Amino acid sequence: MATSTCPKCEGTSFEVKQTAPSGSNFYLWLVQCSSCGAVVSSHEADNIGALLEAHKKSLGKIEERLSRIEHALNVLANR
Ligand SMILES: [Zn+2]
Repeated sequence: MATSTCPKCEGTSFEVKQTAPSGSNFYLWLVQCSSCGAVVSSHEADNIGALLEAHKKSLGKIEERLSRIEHALNVLANR
């Protein structure tokens, strides 16, 4: 497997750093060279996939509760 190298100093060690870009209201994860700090990649700090999964579970619970409420209303309407 090839060794990843920094495009600026040819260092081979990298680290992750969280930062908020100036004037922003969000965080980024920066992958940077451990030697010179050159940024080689950035990612959103919020894990959008995990957030969507949490919303999916929440929607499932809401649908289940709504279904029970609809059932109870039908029972009441048919008395
Ligand atoms: Zn470097």
